[in-house]
Parts: sequence; structure tokens; C-alpha cells
Amino acid sequence: MKKASIVVPVYNEEKILETFFNKLSKALEEIPGFDWEIIFVDDGSNDGSWEKIKKIVNISPYRIKAFRFSRNFGKELALTAGIEHVVDADLAICIDADLQHPPELIKEMVKRWFNGADIVVAVRQDVEDFSFFRKFGSKIFYWIMSRYSSTNLCPGSTDFRLLDKKVIEVLKTFRERTRLFRGLIDWMGFKKDFVYFIAPGRNNGSSSFGLKTLINLAINSFTVFSLLPLKFTGYLGLFITLFSFLLLLFMFFAKFFMHWTIRPIAFFVVFNTFLFGIVLCALGLIALYIGHIYTEVVGRPLYIIKESLQKTSFNENSNFQLA
Ligand code: UDP
Ligand code: MG
Repeated sequence: MKKASIVVPVYNEEKILETFFNKLSKALEEIPGFDWEIIFVDDGSNDGSWEKIKKIVNISPYRIKAFRFSRNFGKELALTAGIEHVVDADLAICIDADLQHPPELIKEMVKRWFNGADIVVAVRQDVEDFSFFRKFGSKIFYWIMSRYSSTNLCPGSTDFRLLDKKVIEVLKTFRERTRLFRGLIDWMGFKKDFVYFIAPGRNNGSSSFGLKTLINLAINSFTVFSLLPLKFTGYLGLFITLFSFLLLLFMFFAKFFMHWTIRPIAFFVVFNTFLFGIVLCALGLIALYIGHIYTEVVGRPLYIIKESLQKTSFNENSNFQLA
């Protein structure tokens, strides 16, 4: 009998959680030879998600661990917490609670694992309800990331992933806090395989990743994984220096050969403005990096769990309090 854990980040999914659990159960029943455990991480939901989780703990035929964050720490950290609580499993699977990741795919992922893959990534081929803008943004993000950073992100790849024991153990040793979970996993290497699916639209509510969060995520992953912005400042500096140099040359030429009237102060202004631009750009970028160093150095815990539940087997008394 193999052991496997399913990690589910939950943020305000009250309405859909039970449906999700039923679908998941149904999908898991189809995969023989596994002792499943489900790990719910309630990422500080402010609806009835935690109550729903408690209910699921009571009815579940599977082993369950449930953790409740003291506030919303974000999906990346919810996944991190889940993975950190995977104990001696042969594999783990991360899946969204909002039914955008079809649990039926797990069977195929497990099959790929049996065939030797250490990481099986579910790749989303299209999302029905994403706006044009979001699709476009995500395309650009993946394109830039894969061209200019050390990590190769596969476009459309999601957090819906199967991870082998080896991968989980390595993942547990990562301590950085600004993290893009799939970026980290892609960075690690290992033997990868891909399965494809078409994501249905969200069944209820809207995606909790607003435009601001997405842009933040993109900028952060970018500065965490890539030095391009710093290099870009260098290029910009080069360009501006060259440009201002040419402009100054032209101004000299115009003044002395074409006898235009250009006052000395104009030379200063051109020269200074550009220098100033360079300095400001550089400062802004350096601030980003210092920001990352700062958050890493402060060393706060990644997340805080305020409540947790565990169920070790079906017959055992559930609602066993961990903390
Ligand atoms: N989620 C989370 N914390 C958050 C936002 C989302 O744990 O701050 C969970 C959410 O409950 C869902 C998954 O992460 O299970 C994906 O969230 P969402 O559907 O909002 O993201 P998208 O599908 O748009 O990437
Ligand atoms: Mg979703």
C-alpha cells in the first residue's frame, strides 16, 4: 500500500468545499493501492470554510489534517504549510479547492509517477473565464520569465502537481519567504512529466487573485529569480549616456558650425536630467532587491497556524486537536 497526501489550500471556499471533497473522493476511489491523506490549509478564510472543513473531517473516510492560519498569508504559503506537514508519504499532490483543477486528472498523474516521473505538472490549456487582459498578461510573464531568468517556467503550468517524496523533502528545506511555488519546483529540476487539461470557469465567486496581487506576484517572482532588472538598468544607463552624449555633440556642432544660439545652461540641463534619470532608476531597482534581502533577513515565521485538526483513521475519534 502506497501512502499519498493531497494538499488543498483553501481561502473563502465555503460554498464549494463539499462539492470539491465529494469529487475528490470519487476520483480517489478509482485509484487502488493507495492510503490517502488530505491536508487542508485554511488560509485565514473569513467565511465558513473552517466549519466546512470540520464537517468534512467528520465524514471523511480518508485520513485528514487541517490547519487554520491566523490570517490570510497567501496561496504560496498555504501550499508551503501543507507540504511541510506531509509526513512519510510516497507522493503528494497539490490541488486547488475551487474545482478549477479536475480531480479526475489525479489518476493519470499517479500513472505517470509509476512510470518514473518525480514531478507531474498539470498544464492548463485554456481558461474559460479569464479576461483577455489576464491571458495576455500571463503570456507575457511566462515569455519574459523563460527568456531572461534562470528558471524555466512552462506556460500554462499550474500548482496542480504531483510531487515525489524526494522532491517534497527538498522543498521542505527551502526557507525563503517571497516564493512562487511552481517557480521553486521548476528550479529544482528532477524528472518531469506533463498532463494537460482545460480549466473550467470558477464555479462561484471570482478569483481571489486581483490584478494588484497578480502584478505583485509577477514583479516579485521576477526580481527573485532574475537579475534582468538590474541588467536592464545598466542597459538603460548605457543608452541614456550614449544618447545624451550624441545630443551634446549635436549641440556643440550646432553652436559652433551652424551658429545656433544655445546657451551654456542648456548643455547643463541636458546633461543633468539624464544623469538624474539614471540615478533614480538605479535607486528604485536597488530598493526592490534590498526589500527582498530585508524580508529574508528578518526571519519571521513563514505562516502562523492558530488551530488544527487531525484524523488518523476512519474509525478513530475525529476532531483530535493538535494544537
Ligand atoms: N487560495 C489561498 N489563499 C489565497 C488565495 C487563494 O489559499 O490567498 C486558494 C484558493 O482557495 C484556491 C486556490 O488557492 O483553492 C486558487 O485560488 P484562485 O482560484 O483564487 O486562484 P486562480 O485559480 O485564479 O489562480
Ligand atoms: Mg482558481
